Amino acid sequence: MSDPLTEARRSRPENSAEVAALYQEIILDHYRRPRNKGALEKADATIEMRNPLCGDEIALQVAFNGDGVSDLKFSGRGCSISQASASMMTQLVKGKSTEEINAIRKQFRDLMLGNAPDADDSRLGSLRALSGVARFPARVKCALLAWNALESALAERAS
Ligand code: ZN
Repeated sequence: MSDPLTEARRSRPENSAEVAALYQEIILDHYRRPRNKGALEKADATIEMRNPLCGDEIALQVAFNGDGVSDLKFSGRGCSISQASASMMTQLVKGKSTEEINAIRKQFRDLMLGNAPDADDSRLGSLRALSGVARFPARVKCALLAWNALESALAERAS
């Protein structure tokens, strides 16, 4: 299966600028054309979170089914990292079980803490485009905002 991100990293490891440019393009694409942005007609949980350091705001709505997330949407505003991360997250976790989501969430957090091998794991999908954020600790909070909201939504459901 061809995966453009893995492909770029493997075929052009000597040209990291090219990979960085591709990552930047993916982030901007999600920022300009966010996926799953809006409001759900019927949400089981609504979580609002802010990142005061950067001024990012997000409201995440989640609908559950069985043991997973059947649908989710977000609204909000903020920097390109926070909005792109939210867009990528909704795309990746929609339709997945709580267990799968928690595994991805943990892996993405590890990536943001600088765990390089995760940057090659295709399970993270386009989230890998955010791997460079790990070098900027202040921006890590931007990238994790949507994920913290999702964690709260899942915890709210469990309680
Ligand atoms: Zn931000």
